[in-house]
Amino acid sequence: MYKVGEIINHNKKDKIIKDFRPNLDNNLNATLVTAKIIIFYLFIGFTWILTSDYFVNLFVDDPERIIRIQSIKGFAYVIVTAIIFYIIIHKSIQMYIATISDLKMAYTGLDLSHQKALELDDKLFKVAYYDSLTGLPNKVLLEKTVSKYIEDHPQDGMIGFIYFDIDEFSNINEVKGHSFGDQLLQQIANLLNSKIEAPNMLARTGGDEFVLALFELNQLETYIPQVEYYINLIRTTFVLDEDDFFITYSVGVALYPDNGKDYITLLRHADAAQSIAKSKGKDQIVIFDDEMVTMIKQQTELLNYLRHAIANEEFSLHYQPIINLKDDQTSGVEALIRWQHPVKGFIPPLEFISISEKNGYIKEISEWVFKEVANQYEAWNIEGKQFRISINISPIMLMYDKFIPYMNEWIQTYHLDSSQITLEITESAIIEDIQKSVHVLKQLKKLGFIIALDDFGTGYSSLTYLQKLPIDIIKIDRSFISNIKPNTEEFHVLRYMIELAHHLNLLVVAEGIETIEQANMVKKYDVDLAQGYYFCRPMPQLRVIEYLKENKTN
Ligand code: C2E
Ligand code: CA
Ligand code: CA
Repeated sequence: MYKVGEIINHNKKDKIIKDFRPNLDNNLNATLVTAKIIIFYLFIGFTWILTSDYFVNLFVDDPERIIRIQSIKGFAYVIVTAIIFYIIIHKSIQMYIATISDLKMAYTGLDLSHQKALELDDKLFKVAYYDSLTGLPNKVLLEKTVSKYIEDHPQDGMIGFIYFDIDEFSNINEVKGHSFGDQLLQQIANLLNSKIEAPNMLARTGGDEFVLALFELNQLETYIPQVEYYINLIRTTFVLDEDDFFITYSVGVALYPDNGKDYITLLRHADAAQSIAKSKGKDQIVIFDDEMVTMIKQQTELLNYLRHAIANEEFSLHYQPIINLKDDQTSGVEALIRWQHPVKGFIPPLEFISISEKNGYIKEISEWVFKEVANQYEAWNIEGKQFRISINISPIMLMYDKFIPYMNEWIQTYHLDSSQITLEITESAIIEDIQKSVHVLKQLKKLGFIIALDDFGTGYSSLTYLQKLPIDIIKIDRSFISNIKPNTEEFHVLRYMIELAHHLNLLVVAEGIETIEQANMVKKYDVDLAQGYYFCRPMPQLRVIEYLKENKTN
């Protein structure tokens, strides 16, 4: 590995050693200085002996006094030279000590910065290759590791590349808060990582996305049980903040070398398999196969067709009656878009709505729906009775900046009675950004629209936030109704949902009623309105109007 710290320190050390290394010049200097001191000493000594004796003999005649003065002179000489030597030696030793301590300091500094550099180096390594929240390898390290393995095993290797994300994570994050979401990510990462052994690697590649790379899979037959084993470890209940959360995953698997010979292809294919797991209803493992490439191609083709659909007048609206269970009369209709392609035939909305949302094409489609509903609005006034119309609103439109002015202009231009129009918004769309949704919904209500929460019960289903939303109706999703059996947990939840909605003065619609039993059950539990094939399938406007007239005479 590239060690930044080491490079810095080697340079510094070299410089210091160069500055303090004894060399020839320094030796010469020392000899010269010492010689100068000795010459200076000899000069003082000789001058003292010669001049002092001369002056003593000049001024003193008494030989006894001369002897005494000479011994004092000797002492004075020793004291003066001692003082001079003291000064010289003291200065040299001071310099010597200063040099030694400078050297010491330089080396201590060197040690300190070396230590620091190593720490920094370690931090840089962690930032570059590890995720700070979970401590798992990040996608850079994952890519390096996978690419290196592929490079080392061009013929004999095998990798199981498992790409997964947490179902409904954004909802949990939004409802319970981000720090809660972070705790959940940490718990999942810790739990799974404690079972992963090298060379296998668990990496966090994004928000709630992880990759588990299983290296050295020796047999193709055993890898699916392995994937299942690891996913089942974390497909469990997590307790956070005294709440229980059963967490599931959408998992896509691609294999090296069968489904991709490099990291990017493996990632793309595992991602494609994962998005199929998602679109099939989440909580499942999908193994990549070549048909998925065809599927991806088909989606691109669909998008191309979609670009011409409006101009070629390929869209139409169907309407499905919504029945009031109190008197079995139709109270309104839901507008549902239909796409009839000249070559491909009928393409269901679930196939093209999400693609058009991803590609920004939903705006044009939605505007087409609004225009068409407005043009057909008058016809819903049947024999003096105005039927309420429900329109599905894409989450993208809800978050669109100019949505409120657009809706305002829409009712003004076509002289629509907004109190007769219900806007259906899915639960998951609202939870994506509750604050903004509440703000937009309040403004829509100010314009007079009725708001329905669509597909209720499929998302995070927190009943606690229901009272915060400015809504009038909840539509209980078909999947919830069709799976229900008396005295199961779901059954009690359904009853509680209905009670709570009524407590909050909300109307309850049951979607997807297909049998008389289901119709009777929802009636028994006080559901207000119902929709489903049992009553009437979605049909073009004229046929629904016929149905309404027929039903009235019955
Ligand atoms: P949704 O809003 O939940 O609409 C109800 C779906 O259930 C419709 O499917 C309807 O045909 C179907 N359905 C009604 N009764 C029954 C039943 O008894 N059994 C079964 N199995 N299905 C029943 P559709 O028309 O295929 O629409 C699917 C989804 O596409 C809609 O779900 C809605 O989310 C979306 N969608 C449809 N039209 C539009 C539109 O104009 N704009 C937007 N943004 N989305 C639309
Ligand atoms: Ca709907
Ligand atoms: Ca629905």
